Order: sequence, then C-alpha cells, then structure tokens
Amino acid sequence: MAADTDIRVGVLALQGDVSEHVRAFEQALSARIGEHHPVVPVRRPMEIEGLDALAIPGGESTTITRLIEKNGLRRPLARFPGGIFATCAGMVLLATAVDDPRVEPLGLVDMRVVRNAFGRQHESFEADIAIEGLDSPFHAVFIRAPVAELVGTGAEILARLNIGAVAVRQSLHLALSFHPELGQDLRLHELFLERL
Ligand code: GLN
Repeated sequence: MAADTDIRVGVLALQGDVSEHVRAFEQALSARIGEHHPVVPVRRPMEIEGLDALAIPGGESTTITRLIEKNGLRRPLARFPGGIFATCAGMVLLATAVDDPRVEPLGLVDMRVVRNAFGRQHESFEADIAIEGLDSPFHAVFIRAPVAELVGTGAEILARLNIGAVAVRQSLHLALSFHPELGQDLRLHELFLERL
C-alpha cells in the first residue's frame, strides 16, 4: 500500500450524499496523518486512476447505476484495484446480486442485497450495533436501508440485524447499510483505511 501520507481517496460524485463523504474522509485522513489531505470527487474514468480508495455514497442506487453507465464508469469501477467504502445505495452497488432488476451491481462483494429492506414502517431509524473489529457499539443511522440476505463464502459479515447483514467486508472493500459519514464517529473509516 501507499505510505500513509500518499493515500489518495475519491468519492463517486454522481448523486447522493457526496459532500458528507468528502468531509468524513478528510477528517479521518487528517486524524491519521496529522495534516489536511484533500479528497477528490470522481465523475469520469480518468479520475479513478491512481486512487487508493473510493467511497460510493448513499443516494438512489437506481439513479447511480444509470449514471455509472452513462459516464462510462462501469469497467473502471469493477476493476478498481483499491478499496471501496460503500454506504447504503453504495452497498447495493457493490453486491453480486440485487432484488431490483433496475440496478446492475458491480459484483465486488459476494452478497445478495435487498433494497429498502426494512419496509415502510421502519424506513429510517437509528440503532447501536455491535460491529466486528470495534470494541464498543456503533451508533448507526439507517435511511431506507438495504440488507444482505445472503453472504457468500468470499465475504465476511461484520454486523447483522435480525433481517440480514448490515456490514460486510470483502478484501479491501467495506459495504455498510447505514451512514457513518453522517456522524462524528469515524472508527469505521479508520478500520477501512488501516487495511489499504
Ligand atoms: N433506498 C436507496 C436505494 O436502494 C438507498 C437509500 C440510501 O442510500 N440512503 O438505492
């Protein structure tokens, strides 16, 4: 991996909560490196080159999938050699299979994902959840969140709720149903950066 001071992080900036991801990663990087480190928005294939990590934000996975296609990003994303930190709609996009045929996922994490899995009654909620690798619970914000109903042997479940997995890791990638970029607790960002 790159020396710490050289870690280059981008955020897929097609739709969704892009600025929150930029802020969270800039904060996590400056806590780690001790100096300001800009995080760059990614909209075109050439902007992915040379990055060590990429965040795929929450938003609408149906819209993001369309824009990935339109901007010629499918191949560069599917072949990205660095780590991907994906939240909510981002998690849907990392899967190998999705319940909604309008989403064509990237197939980078071996899991079958259900969109909006908590239903109308529990569209948005917050919960303190135990996550493998963290020594105390994480306050997680869920907004029309997906879950992984099936996780293959290539991937590792780091957290689950009763209806399925909500944090899944495969190689350098981390897929989360919830939104750590919305809060001040950046332990999951740190966990992710440590493995790059
Ligand atoms: N329900 C959205 C989707 O499946 C995700 C919601 C979110 O990212 N907050 O695309």
